[in-house]
Amino acid sequence: FPAENIRNFSIIAHVDHGKSTLADRLLELTGTISSNHSHQQVLDKLNVERERGITTCSMFYKYKDKDYLLNLIDTPGHVDFNYEVSRSLVACQGTILLVDASQGIQAQTVANFFLAFNEGLTIIPVINKIDLPAAEPDRVINQVESTFELDTSEISLISAKSGLGVDKILPSVIEKIPPPSGDVNKPLKAFLFDSWYDTYVGVICLMEIVDGKLQKGDKIVSAYSEKMYEVIDIGIMHPEQFTTGYLHAGQVGYVVCSMKVAAEAHVGDTFYHIKNPVDPLPGFEPAKSMVFAGVFPIDTNEFNRLDESITKLTLNDASVSIQRETSMALGQGWRIGFLGTLHMDVFKQRLEEEHDANVIITQPTVPYKIVYRDGTAKLIRNPTEFPEPMELQNKLSELQEPMILATIILPEEYMGSIIDLCGSRRGEQIEYNYMDESRVIMKYSIPLAEIVTDFHDELKSRSSGYASFDYEDMGYQISDIVKMNVLINKKPVDALATILHRSQVANVGREWAKKLSEVIPKQLYEVIIQTTIGGKVIARETIPAMRKNVTAKCYGGDVTRNIELPQKAFYDFLSKG
Ligand code: GDP
Ligand code: MG
Repeated sequence: FPAENIRNFSIIAHVDHGKSTLADRLLELTGTISSNHSHQQVLDKLNVERERGITTCSMFYKYKDKDYLLNLIDTPGHVDFNYEVSRSLVACQGTILLVDASQGIQAQTVANFFLAFNEGLTIIPVINKIDLPAAEPDRVINQVESTFELDTSEISLISAKSGLGVDKILPSVIEKIPPPSGDVNKPLKAFLFDSWYDTYVGVICLMEIVDGKLQKGDKIVSAYSEKMYEVIDIGIMHPEQFTTGYLHAGQVGYVVCSMKVAAEAHVGDTFYHIKNPVDPLPGFEPAKSMVFAGVFPIDTNEFNRLDESITKLTLNDASVSIQRETSMALGQGWRIGFLGTLHMDVFKQRLEEEHDANVIITQPTVPYKIVYRDGTAKLIRNPTEFPEPMELQNKLSELQEPMILATIILPEEYMGSIIDLCGSRRGEQIEYNYMDESRVIMKYSIPLAEIVTDFHDELKSRSSGYASFDYEDMGYQISDIVKMNVLINKKPVDALATILHRSQVANVGREWAKKLSEVIPKQLYEVIIQTTIGGKVIARETIPAMRKNVTAKCYGGDVTRNIELPQKAFYDFLSKG
């Protein structure tokens, strides 16, 4: 296939707007899969097997008597994984922007549009679900024009479910999206955009051949590590690995080379032939963990088994960061960094379901930054690392917290309630616009810490499910944050320390003390629960001794004694949120 007969494209859409259904239809239409229904959501399935990431699928298609190779590059596309969407777009020259005819443009439609727009991709708008009784295609076409300034004169109206209009999609992909610009006669330049670990064949890389030609047996070098590898197997995904023995400029496919461990496959790396070094392509910023939590086995004897499970679960997920953590209260565990809370929930669920694990997960923390007067800075991923006020005296320049830029789209009748919500989460409105007579798009800057808890659920419940939300990283901002300790009988419990904005201390301090007093069972002695900031008590609760007798008196004298709190009390407290 000469480059002019290749198209590399993706489908971008808000969740549930029909991306997977359309992908299936296209695979059927090109005979890549048969059209019986056992094949539903093929690309998603490939992804799930791989735990997440980017899938590519090559299709062969005849158009106006010419044979084309069409490569569909797909990502699952949830808000936490926008960085994967942008990674996958690098290997495309164009994208189909799919919008649900009954729901119209939603927050992820906007976020994904801008990712594609900033990559300079050709964007083909398509309206889906026109079979639905609630479909309002004309209204959605207007939204597409006014929000994205896209030409809608030739817009496709389709039903991915019934197949109506789907036959128009691939011709417009060929006509509108430019072919890749690579040159097969130039030295090899291969771009690695995703990888996963397969138990049978080892590390499998997805690569785009930007220039040149790569064949089985070739010796290639990583521009990142300068390590040499030999290509063992190479081919296209169709939809699973299909050996071709080579890939040419403009193609995307899989490459198995002599990589031993997943960590050798650096996403964003450029590979070249050993005798022909080239300048590397601009790489990617590594995925940043934005939410950190401590994970501890409920039964401490389970530590080794869980360590294995966690290693297995994260083998393919370079966006997870792991460190060992030891807590006085909870014993040995791990501090794990995730892209967001959804990512964390998925991880926890898999750990419980697939690895039969019982774990305590501590309150999630975002990475706070301490900037010292000498210009150095320290990232705090664990509240226990946060210095006490005394330690910061004369050294501190400022404290900062991570911010996000939220895009919220909603019917105007819910505006008041959502503005209240954002305000209560320390959000600041940056702009709002009407997308049409009744739909509003708002932008807010909000501290990341405020959305990692229940922001999304709250947004949905205040808008009867109609508001949609997406966010992007906005860097750090100065903030008046403090560390709150929880003391039980005067002893701080490390696993319960938390970092808060000063304005929240009184409420959270009271709430936590109260909630703890409800989950800790009565003991033989009195239990005093205190929440404190820099030694100052915010709230106090007392759990009276089981019965007033002599024994209690005996214990009573030594309130600083390290009491053994049952793990269950922590579990109850933390899982209640
Ligand atoms: P994705 O999240 O964008 O991948 O969306 P899916 O492809 O999983 O589709 C979400 C839901 O919408 C599924 O229940 C589909 O069956 C349904 N759906 C997709 N396309 C259409 C369509 O054209 N018409 C109707 N009525 N439903 C559709
Ligand atoms: Mg899907």
